[in-house]
Amino acid sequence: VATVSCLLPSMRHSLKKSTWKLLEMIAKEAEDQGWHLYIVGGAVRDLLLTNNNQKVSLQDIDLVVDGFHRSADVGAGVELASTIQKKYPNCRLSVHGEFQTAALLWHKDPEFGSLWIDIATSRTEFYPYPAANPEVESSSIRQDLYRRDFTINALAVRLTPPREGELLDFFGGLLDLKGKEVRVLHANSFIEDPTRIYRAVRFAVRLNFDIEPQTETYIRYAIESGIYDKLKLKNHVTPALTTRLKAESKYILEANYWKPALQLLSDLDSLKCLHNQVILDDKIWWQIRCASRWLRYLDPDNNIGHWLIRLEILISKINPQERKQLALNLHLPKDSLERIDKDNIIYSEIQELLLKCNKISDKYKQLYRNKLADLILVAVNSKKEVRRIIWQYLTQWSKIQAPLNGNDLKRMGYKPGPQYKLVLDRLLALTLDGEIKTQQEAAIIVKQMFDNG
Ligand code: ATP
Repeated sequence: VATVSCLLPSMRHSLKKSTWKLLEMIAKEAEDQGWHLYIVGGAVRDLLLTNNNQKVSLQDIDLVVDGFHRSADVGAGVELASTIQKKYPNCRLSVHGEFQTAALLWHKDPEFGSLWIDIATSRTEFYPYPAANPEVESSSIRQDLYRRDFTINALAVRLTPPREGELLDFFGGLLDLKGKEVRVLHANSFIEDPTRIYRAVRFAVRLNFDIEPQTETYIRYAIESGIYDKLKLKNHVTPALTTRLKAESKYILEANYWKPALQLLSDLDSLKCLHNQVILDDKIWWQIRCASRWLRYLDPDNNIGHWLIRLEILISKINPQERKQLALNLHLPKDSLERIDKDNIIYSEIQELLLKCNKISDKYKQLYRNKLADLILVAVNSKKEVRRIIWQYLTQWSKIQAPLNGNDLKRMGYKPGPQYKLVLDRLLALTLDGEIKTQQEAAIIVKQMFDNG
């Protein structure tokens, strides 16, 4: 963890030159207005965790501005962001009025790459407070930091004079960074916002930290007291909370550390936040890992959304109606909703039918209409014999082609019509079963079929 007397030199060293220049410029604008500007949250945490000769690529920067503003409608953060946006027409400005927060977004920019800067306002008053008054200043940023989740995320570095570069550490975040602990700021934190449990797990696993024992007690207490009822995904849904829960679940399930994170969520009994019937038993755990292995091999570009399949398996034992409701409330995408809607009975049907088939071509017929994600879900729900058939289909049979195709038939002088499909299907079936291999063999079959009408 970096030394802390003045963090500006190490920030200058660690950040991309263009990002550093931009921060300097935003700080200058704030200073000209008589405001204080801070960099806060994850960026400070990550900068402090970086050793001096490493570069940090920050794509997500949280700034807090503390200063009075001229109108009740627009906070200092919004005003500051608008000024910056005028200087950088390439960036998009987005304003969330309710919280007086503005975001500046660069997308694949030649100078900044993809960069997202949030500028929040820490003070809600809009009359001229003496900004230089250190007591007012510190109470305002302190309050802002106190609303955050963990001590390691409640650190700030002042970017404006006086004492620019100073670390503001009101809650012992630096010690916790050194001690590698995720510590919550207050006892009720998880009851106020259960998604913080998922965040605690995410940071602990990602940073290789421990959840501090008292914090773990608060988590367990929150779960035992039934906070998940707050998230109960029925009629009285809390949309902001479910949106955050989905975002945090997605974050965890798509991260490369999803396995230990999911295990830790389960150890803390906090999968209940999704639904009280969600349990990571041996079977579900195996299914998730098996599906993930298949996905890595069969969908290396992650077109399906591997995190979704993991989530779908995780919630698969909830009764169908409630599972559907949960999926709707989490706003899962259409493909996922369709899969969740399919009853497990469909999986056993496919299983039974496959076991009755002897020929490869018959097995192929049972499988070829299904999408990859469905087949993986059937596979992890089936016995080994069936799983092997599906694997062979996906890795071999689905790639096999007959020696002749429709164009070949045309070239051979056969008139296109409904019979083409019958002939081509037959050719494929015979090829799959190893009964024909060459174009000559295929041509004989074609001739026989057309001759017989
Ligand atoms: P990451 O590197 O994963 O993006 P981050 O710390 O930047 O980590 P964000 O989710 O971007 O995480 O949140 C930014 C900051 O906002 C956090 O550092 C934290 O201070 C605060 N924050 C986010 N979510 C919550 C929450 N649910 N409760 C309290 N504070 C939160």
